[in-house]
Amino acid sequence: MASTLIPNTQKKISSNVDDRIRLVGLGRNEILFHLENFGIEKQKLKMRTKQIFHWIYNYGVRDWSEMTNIAKKLRNELEEKFSLERPKIIEKQVSNDGTRKYLIQMSPGVEVETVFIPDVSKTGALCVSSQVGCTLTCKFCHTGTQKLVRNLTSQEIVLQVISARDDLNEWPTTQENRKLTNIVFMGMGEPLYNSNQVGDSLDIICDPEGIGIGRRRITISTSGVVPEIVPIGSRTSAMLAISLHAANDDLREKIMPINRKYPLKELMQACRDYPGLSNSKRITFEYVMLKGINDKPKHAKQLINLLKGIPSKVNLIPFNPWPGSDFECSDWATIENFADLVNKAGYASPIRTPRGRDILAACGQLRSESEKLRASDLRKLNKSNLKLLKTPFIPKT
Ligand code: SAH
Ligand code: SF4
Repeated sequence: MASTLIPNTQKKISSNVDDRIRLVGLGRNEILFHLENFGIEKQKLKMRTKQIFHWIYNYGVRDWSEMTNIAKKLRNELEEKFSLERPKIIEKQVSNDGTRKYLIQMSPGVEVETVFIPDVSKTGALCVSSQVGCTLTCKFCHTGTQKLVRNLTSQEIVLQVISARDDLNEWPTTQENRKLTNIVFMGMGEPLYNSNQVGDSLDIICDPEGIGIGRRRITISTSGVVPEIVPIGSRTSAMLAISLHAANDDLREKIMPINRKYPLKELMQACRDYPGLSNSKRITFEYVMLKGINDKPKHAKQLINLLKGIPSKVNLIPFNPWPGSDFECSDWATIENFADLVNKAGYASPIRTPRGRDILAACGQLRSESEKLRASDLRKLNKSNLKLLKTPFIPKT
């Protein structure tokens, strides 16, 4: 029976465009399930699924007529039932540093932001969203001010990758010329409150016959949903990033309410237990630099103590302002001093270059259903962004 192939997934096989079922963004099992329902003969099911999967995810075809190894008659019948359409990109902004931010409408009222960040070294990371809004309310984060609308399905997560690939014009996928080489779950939402869909999306994105991005090139970032950390590592083999931002419970509770539920001791134990850790597979600890809050030498020392025994690196993120935020970014000298202390203790501690700040695409600035900004707020924000963009920056590696 078809339903035994993908138990309980009927709910998420949705996202229909017009009256047709959208195939793009679905995994092999789901495609097979639909083809079986459509009436493809049993002995040809696997072969047809493989062909269609390859056309969708390797060649990025949007038109059934391009699937030249499928007979025209069958193609026409398939087209009547199944769509290869992409979700609508409502808005695309390109930063003066090359960062691209897309606002994608998955369905009416469900809009997500996805950001492509090209790097000088010919790599590029796509920052994908896992939820619309977020239930957590980290005080420094813009997404945290947007109530959760809903979790995204694995299809909607994959569609973010597809849409970026379309825009970058990089079909078919080849290892040599691809611009989109890495994926980070650092967009809107908390991926570990949507672990199942995130896990499923990785199976599609990493499939070597399709988009084929290696699991080590995918990073899942969490604010610290402790019970989900080890399971997502076992399920996906992806890299892990922890949004730490404070190395003592008192302070972390103040800026990240989730710490009340999962305090540092439990969080660090889950990190120690993360599957496959080694010197070449380290956990990234993200630490946003908040002026006068978490940026003193004593905080650096607490951080160093906390990381003892865990293969880790630290990513220092200059705070990115957003309309109405209460924090300021630490001074440059303070950030450098902090980085030096952590570095000297033996942990790589690069300072992340702020990217796409001019289009509100940097870490923590994402928020959809954008409210209309008052002109005065916009001016203020642009002024502080400009000042930060001019800050001399020498990345440490
Ligand atoms: N919810 C997940 C994924 C979002 S990742 C998580 O919290 O890890 C986004 C990253 O940007 C997180 O490390 C987050 O803490 C950080 N961030 C949030 N607001 C920020 C801001 N205003 N400036 C810089 N970084 C911020
Ligand atoms: Fe949610 Fe992450 Fe923002 Fe916290 S930092 S509010 S967990 S998106």
